[in-house]
Amino acid sequence: MPAPVLLLDSAMLYYRAYYSLPDTMTAPNGSPHNAIRGFFSTVNRLVEKYEPSGLAACWDVSWRPQWRVDLLPSYKTHRLAADEAGQISGAAEIPDTLSPQITAIAELLDALGVARPGAKDHEADDVIASLATSAAAPVIVVSGDRDLVQLVDENVRLLMTVNGGMELWPLLTPAAVEERFGVHPTQYVDFATLRGDPSDGLPGVPGIGAKTAAALIQKYGSIDELLLAVDRDEIVKPLTPRFAGLIRDNLEQIHATRKVATVVRDLQFEGDLKIPSTPKDQVPLQELARTWGVERYLRIGSLQL
Ligand code: MN
Ligand code: MN
Repeated sequence: MPAPVLLLDSAMLYYRAYYSLPDTMTAPNGSPHNAIRGFFSTVNRLVEKYEPSGLAACWDVSWRPQWRVDLLPSYKTHRLAADEAGQISGAAEIPDTLSPQITAIAELLDALGVARPGAKDHEADDVIASLATSAAAPVIVVSGDRDLVQLVDENVRLLMTVNGGMELWPLLTPAAVEERFGVHPTQYVDFATLRGDPSDGLPGVPGIGAKTAAALIQKYGSIDELLLAVDRDEIVKPLTPRFAGLIRDNLEQIHATRKVATVVRDLQFEGDLKIPSTPKDQVPLQELARTWGVERYLRIGSLQL
């Protein structure tokens, strides 16, 4: 197998580092640097393990794009910060000691010269999907997002985290996706549309759980075919009059959810994803590394401070 391209869901990696490492890991000025340390050590571990030909730290320029919210108002609503009165502010709830570390990670990656692609009004998911779709080499996607299961194919493998911890699952292949979720990766969006996904605020069809969702998608192949059967009143198992009724009652939501959960695959990016052999901007890099006390951790394969 030729060397793969590693596409990282950066937000997943820094959140995971922040929550699994103690905030007693600090910079000389006392501020926690746990997210920075954890982020870079995981990236280094992945690069040493997979020896990729390219690396992209894909960025959430918008973690909750307005166009997705317009389609589905519940999209990621539970992740918004609420004030004391429970009033939702519209901003993501990012802990005070994490925000400056996110900025530092971006600056450190830029100074190292590691590609950090992002796109206006789009999530890292869409960036990853677009890069994976146009990639010439095999791709390994590193993310905690279940929705990226839809990307898995012969050329694209998914590495997911287990329970938000530092451990990673084995690479998901199309066969592994079928085994785990009961549907093929190309059917994952339709499956998630019926079942819902509380972690993204996808409501799902009330009354249809994971088992029924998988059974319906297995039987009909897609939501389009399922809706045709409902429309024609062709009710055969696993479709029942009750499920058909639930689907009829939620048609609008089904169409919206499907659009929201489908990643965008046609964003364009310039520049290559090769990991440079020496840092791009040595001086700011050293300064940043010293300020944050992370000199020892700034290593990505053979790229070092
Ligand atoms: Mn995401
Ligand atoms: Mn997502």
